[in-house]
Amino acid sequence: MPISPESALPEGLHPYAEGLDTGHVRYQSCADCGAAQSLERHACQRCGSVRLAWRDAAGGATVYAVTEIARAPDDSFRALVPYTLVLATLDEGPRVMGHAEPGVAIGDRVRAGFFRHGERTLLRFQRE
Ligand SMILES: [Zn+2]
Repeated sequence: MPISPESALPEGLHPYAEGLDTGHVRYQSCADCGAAQSLERHACQRCGSVRLAWRDAAGGATVYAVTEIARAPDDSFRALVPYTLVLATLDEGPRVMGHAEPGVAIGDRVRAGFFRHGERTLLRFQRE
């Protein structure tokens, strides 16, 4: 379901987090020039348009960077260590951060999966 900046979102629900809750990786896409971008911005990096929409990615990605986390950033992640985080380039172009199965390497083809962590749904990539 495409989401436009004009559509009323339930208060407190961020489009990216809401996408994860429903099993979708979302990214921003410019309604004027079509550019896709990583991270949330309030204007298109290519043409400056503020008409940005959220789109669902298909889920395929390529690993761009990998890091092993040995020390949890807070108590809620302590049970997960050690774990693997990746920056992955979605097939649509934007780059997102997520968990990944151990042993993934730069250049690996991966597919987005999801897991519940406390109140949130997080991204977890697995090899294709
Ligand atoms: Zn644009």
